[in-house]
Amino acid sequence: MASKRSLLIILGVIGVIECLSGIVRYDGYKVLRIQPSGLDQQSAVVNLIRDGQHEIDVWSEMSGEGLDGTGSTLEIQVSPSILPTILSTLEKMGIHYDVLIDDLQKSIEEQLQANGMHRYKRSADSINLTTGYSTFHDKYWRYEEINEWLLKICKTYPNLTECINLGMSYENRPIYAIKISTSLDDATKRQAIWIDAGMHAREWIAPSVALFIIDQLIHGYSSNSNIEELLSQVDFYILPVFNVDGYVYSWTTDRLWRKTRSPNPGSKNCSGTDPNRNWDFHFYDETASGFGWTAATDPCANIYQGAEPHSEIEVRHMDDFIQAHAKHIKAYVTLHSYGTLLMWPWCFTTKQVPPTNYDLAYVALAMRGDIKNVHGRIYRTGNIGKMLGFASGGTSVDYMYNNHSIKYSYAFELPGGPFVMGQSQLKRFLLPPENIVPISEEIYVGIKTLAEHVIGGVKYNLTMTATVATTSSATNEKIGLFIHVCLILPLVLAVFRSLR
Ligand SMILES: [Zn+2]
Repeated sequence: MASKRSLLIILGVIGVIECLSGIVRYDGYKVLRIQPSGLDQQSAVVNLIRDGQHEIDVWSEMSGEGLDGTGSTLEIQVSPSILPTILSTLEKMGIHYDVLIDDLQKSIEEQLQANGMHRYKRSADSINLTTGYSTFHDKYWRYEEINEWLLKICKTYPNLTECINLGMSYENRPIYAIKISTSLDDATKRQAIWIDAGMHAREWIAPSVALFIIDQLIHGYSSNSNIEELLSQVDFYILPVFNVDGYVYSWTTDRLWRKTRSPNPGSKNCSGTDPNRNWDFHFYDETASGFGWTAATDPCANIYQGAEPHSEIEVRHMDDFIQAHAKHIKAYVTLHSYGTLLMWPWCFTTKQVPPTNYDLAYVALAMRGDIKNVHGRIYRTGNIGKMLGFASGGTSVDYMYNNHSIKYSYAFELPGGPFVMGQSQLKRFLLPPENIVPISEEIYVGIKTLAEHVIGGVKYNLTMTATVATTSSATNEKIGLFIHVCLILPLVLAVFRSLR
């Protein structure tokens, strides 16, 4: 009893210190999973969220089957001030809901404790490059530690890696990407794969997965002939933390911060832009909508798209770099959380698919199959807009596909819970660090599969070319269309259906 009391006193003292130091706390906040059934319930939920304004944060939305309003699932963070109204309305309307996270502040503290480091205290662990992933990758790392690790790698492996500062962030922090290549000095640039993570600050699992992939490629190069073969043909650019200011802020001040940290002219209290609504493709497209909050003009919104396209300096730096290397970047991958999803354009619309939809689907299905073989987990796969039933303009995956013609553009929503899950383990952004390695192992395998297809020119295309090699180009197109419509489409649809 005495020890429980002293623990409460300590927690109370921590609370007071956090209040005084401006750290954002989430006492009394809950995360609800709401499953409206039918259009009436769905629009009631939309109204609830609109009325709730800044007391509600949408963590995840999926409309499932789409237009008929069935199968929708929303996960929302609700402040204590509005919680009673939300709960009584849901109950009155008979809308099914679960409390996913009962005590948000406690879950935040639990994640930090499981990570072995309180936010005040820098980890005393040394960053050892040779310990393998069992130790390094069982923790989330701060921005400074990630940089330290990257720079150490580039120093240790000068013939295989190059650390590139894409530019300085709004708060003047370097944004480091690493190039992994066996021909760093080669002027004839080989095909390359770009991977970025940490666009949204609170999605800590994503930078961790990027670090794991870097580690595996570098250490695999000297010990695994497959990796050696892979790296003899393709270069990798990996940017583990894109939104560096937001990421730092999520460690020091507000664990659930999502946006950048730039101020918004005209808004005294609300800073930051959602960098994944800020890209110059269907920027704030008003026709892009689902439940109606997929991009926003309100600087206080978590999905604020920014004053104009590329208003964020981080977006401009990455765009400049990719523009300069677009000719040889053949695949683009952006890592987000959460959802256990592997998706491709379009994101801006629920109604259209991109011109190379079947190639994208073919490679995605191959990735998903190989990912499933790792731990048995199945990533839901499809066009972002069509599959999720809502659309957003200004996203990087659409922009890279359209504006830089990177044909293989994919967005992962990493899992928000362990594979074998009880409800209490669905911690979403607050996933305990023991999930880093299993998730990373899956994504690493998916990336290898993607690389093999990119190198091979995609097996599907090769087969098609072989079939029609002696025919005219007009006939080629017809045969290609036949293969698309009659052979590949039913296969893809059948696989989708079996996974629903
Ligand atoms: Zn995200």
